[in-house]
Amino acid sequence: MDIKKSTISVRSGLNIDEQHGCVVPPITLSTTYNFFGLNQPRLYDYSRRKNPTRDIAQQTLSDLEYGKNTIMTSSGMSAIYLICSAFLEPHDLLIAPHDCYGGTYRLLDALHKKGICKVLFIDQNDTKILLESLIYKPKLIFIETPSNPMLRIVDIYNICKLQKNILYVVDNTFMTPVFQNPLMLGADLVVHSCSKYLNGHSDLIAGAVVSKDTYISDKLAWWGNTLGITSSAFDSYQLLRGIRTLMPRVYQQQKNTKNIISFCQKQSQINTLYYPGLSSHPGHRIACKQQSGFGSIFSFELKGTKNMLLQFLQSLKLFTLAESFGGVESLIAHPATMTHAAMPESARKRAGINDMLLRISVGLEDSDDLIADLAQAFKSIE
Ligand SMILES: *Cc1c(COP(=O)(O)O)cnc(C)c1O
Repeated sequence: MDIKKSTISVRSGLNIDEQHGCVVPPITLSTTYNFFGLNQPRLYDYSRRKNPTRDIAQQTLSDLEYGKNTIMTSSGMSAIYLICSAFLEPHDLLIAPHDCYGGTYRLLDALHKKGICKVLFIDQNDTKILLESLIYKPKLIFIETPSNPMLRIVDIYNICKLQKNILYVVDNTFMTPVFQNPLMLGADLVVHSCSKYLNGHSDLIAGAVVSKDTYISDKLAWWGNTLGITSSAFDSYQLLRGIRTLMPRVYQQQKNTKNIISFCQKQSQINTLYYPGLSSHPGHRIACKQQSGFGSIFSFELKGTKNMLLQFLQSLKLFTLAESFGGVESLIAHPATMTHAAMPESARKRAGINDMLLRISVGLEDSDDLIADLAQAFKSIE
């Protein structure tokens, strides 16, 4: 039976408790498990390696991404670190987007400087540069699409079929498995920061790596246990609870975004609006091909001075100035000083992030209220 994603999200792991018939799977906090007898361990022996609650959350993610196996980690960053630890030697090259998530940039740059592996940041939309980079025989190509915060789109299918013997990894945090499934487009691994839409309530830090095949995931599981970066039972439970409502959340947030984008298109105080759902967006065509939605994040450059930007942010009441995205509440961020502060200014410029850029994560409030709030903030800087 081809089970749909809504059904997977809602029903994964239900009714597995035999002792009490719990509908919702109970959370297993025990760190350790008794042996049947000497040298007779159970499926579970120690929760760092394997835990029943984490297993359910992992299975859910595997099902949603059409993967074979998932390793849940303590954060999105540790998920990326896990991949580097498991697959890269000091002479191996990793190719990453020049405009990747700020934390990813910081991690990969630090690993490169420490000699853990080699890293090359390139514009993956520049076919010439991308093809040239293959001369260096990369071991791993890391893809992030849509990118943060410029919403640039790269063609997952085209990159993943470049060459065999390269590990293709896609950070799918922005789209979630609801709108994009990179394993179906040729990727070997999918990374998620579960701290965003997957949990959806801004009260959990966790990450995950979903693998296309078990050879890859066995290695990740070994490293996850060895490094000790698997997610806790409580966090795994919390994620599972968030995933129950994933589908209706992301669809409603996307609907709100459409309304807000229509409003923003009429705003004379906006210089450029970045949203892949707009036909004027350079990545629109590829987005239509590989995504089944455009999500609920957009960014724009405000016209005017730094003081106007400050005034605009201070006037907003329903958009909280904060890092992160994907929660039920609407947020606004200033990438240059917040999410991408870890990037050196030159790298930020290269990625197109200027000081007037703002990124909005649209939540589940009523879009009329959100629009009214934006309208009064724009009015305050007229
Ligand atoms: C947030 C984020 C990460 C890092 O995840 P954490 O859970 O915060 O460690 C990685 N990639 C993207 C695209 C993100 O948005």
